Amino acid sequence: MPHYQPPLRDMHFVLDELLDLNAELAQLPAHAGLDATTVHQVLEEGGKFAAERLFPLNQTGDREGCQYDAATRSVTTPRGFRDAYQQYVAAGWPSLACDPAYGGQGLPVVLNNAFYEMLNAANQAWTMYPGLSHGAYECLHAHGSEAQKQLYLPRLVSGEWTGTMCLTEAHCGTDLGLLRTRAEPQPDGSYRLTGNKIFISAGEHDMAANIVHLVLARLPDAPSGTRGISLFVVPKFLPDAQGEPGERNAIGCGAIEHKMGIHGNATCQINLDGAKGWLIGEPHRGLNAMFVMMNAARLGVGMQSLGLTEVAYQNALAYARERAQGRSLSGTKASSAPADPIIVHPDVRRMLMTARAYAEGGRAFTSYVALMIDRELNHPDDSVRREAADEVALLTPIVKAFLTDNAWIATSEALQVFGGHGYIAEWGMEQYVRDARINMIYEGTNTIQSLDLLGRKVLMDQGEKLRRFGEKIRHFIVAQSADPAMAEFITPLADLAEKLVKLTAEIGGKAAADPEEMGAAAVPYLRVAGHLVYAYFFARMAKLSLTRAAGGDPFYQAKLATARFYFARLLPETAMLIRQARSGAASLMAMDFS
Ligand SMILES: Cc1cc2nc3c(=O)[nH]c(=O)nc-3n(C[C@H](O)[C@H](O)[C@H](O)COP(=O)(O)OP(=O)(O)OC[C@H]3O[C@@H](n4cnc5c(N)ncnc54)[C@H](O)[C@@H]3O)c2cc1C
Repeated sequence: MPHYQPPLRDMHFVLDELLDLNAELAQLPAHAGLDATTVHQVLEEGGKFAAERLFPLNQTGDREGCQYDAATRSVTTPRGFRDAYQQYVAAGWPSLACDPAYGGQGLPVVLNNAFYEMLNAANQAWTMYPGLSHGAYECLHAHGSEAQKQLYLPRLVSGEWTGTMCLTEAHCGTDLGLLRTRAEPQPDGSYRLTGNKIFISAGEHDMAANIVHLVLARLPDAPSGTRGISLFVVPKFLPDAQGEPGERNAIGCGAIEHKMGIHGNATCQINLDGAKGWLIGEPHRGLNAMFVMMNAARLGVGMQSLGLTEVAYQNALAYARERAQGRSLSGTKASSAPADPIIVHPDVRRMLMTARAYAEGGRAFTSYVALMIDRELNHPDDSVRREAADEVALLTPIVKAFLTDNAWIATSEALQVFGGHGYIAEWGMEQYVRDARINMIYEGTNTIQSLDLLGRKVLMDQGEKLRRFGEKIRHFIVAQSADPAMAEFITPLADLAEKLVKLTAEIGGKAAADPEEMGAAAVPYLRVAGHLVYAYFFARMAKLSLTRAAGGDPFYQAKLATARFYFARLLPETAMLIRQARSGAASLMAMDFS
């Protein structure tokens, strides 16, 4: 049986020591009264809910999966999911980071993010139900009419109703410009929606009284392509005059998918047979509105992968301490036992340290991005808000793709620590690998994230956002240059920063002559950028730890050891990635596959 311990000590380190949360929050009027003690209490309680309530349902949920009943078009979630959701709602967890105007607690995104790491570590499939609702909340909050907000937001905030995002159709996944679902205007101001969506997460279930579907569709006069897509709110039950679930709407689940992982989450075919819906925001501007939800969801997917990385690491570590095989190369370590624990072997330690470094780097990075979202939403100075928004835009594709690729590596390494036992379901490790795989695909595949980073976020703005983030790194490097103890971190960080600038210019030049060059370089480019960001955060964490390790707290020694491992063993991947990115499009485009 696997186990999970919320990583509260590391969370406190990141929030309080690395990011100086108290000082940050003091600058944001909406959170000025919030202090570290309250943040710690919320995380402790949230961690208990995750570890004690959700984690025990993870393996059973995977084994049972969701059941679809064609006669009633209903979905039954695995045993315990519904009860856990009711407890979650009763405890007020859905409202944590929501607007007080609609019943929310108004706590910062950075806190909600840390909470979601723990929920996902405990049970990713379950967490997708409230996770998607929160995305729907954000979208309606940003783009809904006042009447829509009054009707839907309090119920999404309380968790009484859940939400979905309905984009994908059978012929249209990445390329949403192809979508066909139609929306016909009705005399009463509503719309009749007809079409078929596939792969809709949490599209039908038994956990909440109503489901608020946010659906992309085309109006009759819509231009073709992505400029002709509008967004609609289509509830499963039409709200009555009191706002309670009334008549059943003509939207329903036609089937659920049988899939590789996240079995506890219903992946639904959703049929709209003249369903009643209402336009959100402007006609033909639906993709724009949906981007609010998609960006939130991209960070959310990063948190799914961070959670899986952490829980897989914890279990691999416990196993490696217990499992006895062979003797240490440098001489027996457990002389009273017939063999040493496998944690003595260098390569087992490499696997453990890989997962650990990806968890700690990911936690520092995503907490920083979440804090930038808090600045973007709440800072009183407009220029600070804009700067934060630019940084979030630049870093979001890196959160999505780098963390999810790393979780695939980390969960696989953690499984490998178990040898053959990792491949056996009972230990829980193969579930983490299966669950981690989807995170690289949905919310825009990692290829699409890479194209977004290199094409839109870097080249289209002449590298301006990247340059400004690079300035932060440069300031840190300059500030540390007089400290010889920091040289082991600063030298490779400065070297990589310089190489990324050169690489960007080189690809930009080649892409201007041949756009295929951008497509050919994007994936390795994003990984190089991801490593630069991690190197920056590991160097900052090393700086704090060097100063504080003298106090004798082993936490800081461990942090330094992880940072050193990261620089020695993971960062060097960038040499290969840069060569790949520079190798150009020719070797990819030459083959005649016919
Ligand atoms: C379990 C699960 C849950 C999901 N949940 C939801 C949900 O809640 N709501 C929702 O709307 N959708 C959901 N999806 C759909 C998901 O977002 C899509 O599967 C994903 O966006 C990819 O689309 P596709 O599957 O059609 O692949 P395609 O778009 O057909 O892509 C196939 C391959 O081609 C590559 N590719 C495509 N276009 C390009 C390009 N222009 N440049 C380079 N490479 C390209 C892709 O990267 C990919 O490798 C879910 C999917 C799954 C499996």
